Amino acid sequence: MKRAYNFNAGPSALPLPVLQKAQQDMIDYKGTGMSIMEMSHRSSTFEEVLNGAKEDLRSLMNIPDTHEVVFLQGGASLQFSMIPMNFLGTNQIGAYVLTGSWSEKALKEAQKLGQTTVIGSSKENNYRSIPTQNELHLPQQDVAYVHITSNNTIYGTQWHHFPSFGETDLIADMSSDILCRNIDVSKFSLIYAGAQKNLGPSGVTVAIVKKDLLSRIPAGLSTILNYETHVKNNSLYHTPPTFSIYMLSLVLEWVKEQGGLDAIEKQNEKKASMLYECMDMYGDFYTPHADKDSRSLMNVTFTLPDKDRTTSFLQLAEEKGFVGLSGHRSVGGCRASIYNAVPIETCEALVSFMEAFYKEQ
Ligand SMILES: *Cc1c(COP(=O)(O)O)cnc(C)c1O
Repeated sequence: MKRAYNFNAGPSALPLPVLQKAQQDMIDYKGTGMSIMEMSHRSSTFEEVLNGAKEDLRSLMNIPDTHEVVFLQGGASLQFSMIPMNFLGTNQIGAYVLTGSWSEKALKEAQKLGQTTVIGSSKENNYRSIPTQNELHLPQQDVAYVHITSNNTIYGTQWHHFPSFGETDLIADMSSDILCRNIDVSKFSLIYAGAQKNLGPSGVTVAIVKKDLLSRIPAGLSTILNYETHVKNNSLYHTPPTFSIYMLSLVLEWVKEQGGLDAIEKQNEKKASMLYECMDMYGDFYTPHADKDSRSLMNVTFTLPDKDRTTSFLQLAEEKGFVGLSGHRSVGGCRASIYNAVPIETCEALVSFMEAFYKEQ
């Protein structure tokens, strides 16, 4: 068996032991004579899987009792709409920090639903950096929440110090870096993430929501778009993506086996610095897109001196078994997505390849 050097941005690499476990369970899950995909979401067997995933996420992220965990559908993209629908009151304003394409999309949806303002943006420098706290000022209005994107998947930047706005609720799209490091969940009123980068396969979206926030949901909102519906029904209001939740439960078990977020964070730092060090070493050849203090641990974006060499780099990489290295269509260049499940050996192989390619040129 040959596994690819998988740098896909999402859906992306899953841990090999997780895939093997799923394979083992596929035909006969725990002696039930069926796969997890073939059983009722109301069965005790499935409910155990769902509750186990919830508990594991709570303990891994140290989620306080003030917050609920729900599993939703519609991807992170539906959250862009659900957030203003649920939490942006008529006379309030939603404050957005723009650090890349995903935050722009979140803003665009909110604009359709209520009043918004942009309190910080790095668009002017092509999203190379993350604003600092003292560049961010709340308007003199009733601010419903501040929305940030903790890791910018396309540009390869990441918040390393989260801003704080006193009593104002902080909401974060953590789709591409949830579980990559320790964070203080209590600082956030809502954290959400599509699973397909760091948590599992596509199809399920995790939301961690502060209970206080639920009282602000307007009456008359569609049942399925209301966070409280999913909280009250333990994410079983309607048929959830059962297989995705099962896969998520296996990924969380795997993270625990790795030693939890302390160990994962160390490993991620090692993987990322290996790549950034290589680029800094050959700085006239490989140029990281992100400013040094805003570099992402998850998505390493870089360019080569010109289009021809980018093309031949990507071509040769593909021949050598590297997958998913071209940059997002909106940015160009190259991107190595090195989520939790990407093994250190895969990063080492890329560094060796980059060194060899540089020397050859
Ligand atoms: C991938 C991604 C999204 C989009 O997620 P979907 O599940 O496809 O809607 C949103 N935000 C960020 C930061 C992402 O990386």
